[in-house]
Amino acid sequence: MEHYKYQCFDCKKYYSSTKIEENRIYLCPRCGEAKRNMPLKGVLKVRYDKEFIKENLSRDNLLNMTIGEFWTYPYLWPLEINGDQLVSIPSNYLEKIALYNHPLVQGKIEGRELYFFDETRNPTLSFKDRATNLVVLKALQLGINEITVASTGNAGSSLAGICSKLRLKSHVFVPKNIPEGKLIQIRSYGANTYIVDGDYDMAFDLCQEVSRKKGWYNRNTAYNPLTIEGKKSVAYDIFISFKGELPEYIFVQVGDGVIISGLYKGLNELLELGWIEKLPKLIGIQSAGSNALIRYLDTGKFEYQHALTIADGICSGAPRNLYFAAEAVRESLGFGIEVTDDEILEAQKTIANRIGILVEPAAAAAYAGFKKKESNSEFFRSAKILIILTGNGLKDISSLKSWSPKSDVKSYDEWKDILK
Ligand SMILES: [Zn+2]
Repeated sequence: MEHYKYQCFDCKKYYSSTKIEENRIYLCPRCGEAKRNMPLKGVLKVRYDKEFIKENLSRDNLLNMTIGEFWTYPYLWPLEINGDQLVSIPSNYLEKIALYNHPLVQGKIEGRELYFFDETRNPTLSFKDRATNLVVLKALQLGINEITVASTGNAGSSLAGICSKLRLKSHVFVPKNIPEGKLIQIRSYGANTYIVDGDYDMAFDLCQEVSRKKGWYNRNTAYNPLTIEGKKSVAYDIFISFKGELPEYIFVQVGDGVIISGLYKGLNELLELGWIEKLPKLIGIQSAGSNALIRYLDTGKFEYQHALTIADGICSGAPRNLYFAAEAVRESLGFGIEVTDDEILEAQKTIANRIGILVEPAAAAAYAGFKKKESNSEFFRSAKILIILTGNGLKDISSLKSWSPKSDVKSYDEWKDILK
């Protein structure tokens, strides 16, 4: 029995999981389109048999699960299962890919209590491991051992690292302006790395073309529906971390729009199962130099504009999952906020200095958005707020260098003299 199907986001048509997965179909066969510099059309969503989930898992069961090990409740995932076990996945493989299990951090900035969700300590130091984990589990079940992705850095290093753990082969396409730390990380894990003389949008298009020819399994964000699905695991980890009492607002950065879509999908499933009473409001933060979602929320129209921001992780002129991301913001009664690169760097410094977490600029954008909103809103001061920190700061040293204090080099005796 299939416990899930796929449904097109746009035309709403349903497809059996066998048809989609065995034929390696990624977008809706009827209306799907992946065009250059355009959001994807016909993104597929996984739809579950809710009665099957309820027969096998209760709210209390889920609250007792281990954070970072979503496969321990397999009924909520598009994987082949036998009882409560995943088919064709050795248990030692699962141990290797478990995520950081204490992500919830409470902290105070300028007298204000805030919650942070620390995704910087996952196996390859970013949120992307959530998507990669589900994609590699599916690849193993389908008997596939070569996987590809186009990436601004984090998705690539995630695929490279997790493939290395599980002895799979990875092919990573990156733009030439990728931060050096991310590129080194990808190469060090042993991925085949292809640097494109162009931006992320170009790397994405090339990856699409080559993977079709080569028959590699494609992890491209939003294009492979399991990337959205894997990222929904954050919703369950938030639910478990907060013992079912969710925050009122969740601030998250938006690049391609997959994290916010996955977060929304997971929260919405909790709502449909009757395990939460209302959705937290989702606040999408973008850089002013890469603000396609903000403009779309304003005008209802997508217009391609070349993206440029210091926050490479959210630098996307054509967010692949734009329409789903917009739905996530609207349906949760949230909104979008645009921040400048200077505000992002200031936020990076504040989180490092006050909370003790070193984040990359894309992650800092979420706090920059909160800060901007808080400064002109009385209402926010008392609300329960969660800020998702998506990637580690050491992946992009140049941003840290731009504001971190310089230290002098002096002799042993000089220091002794100064510090006496
Ligand atoms: Zn369709």
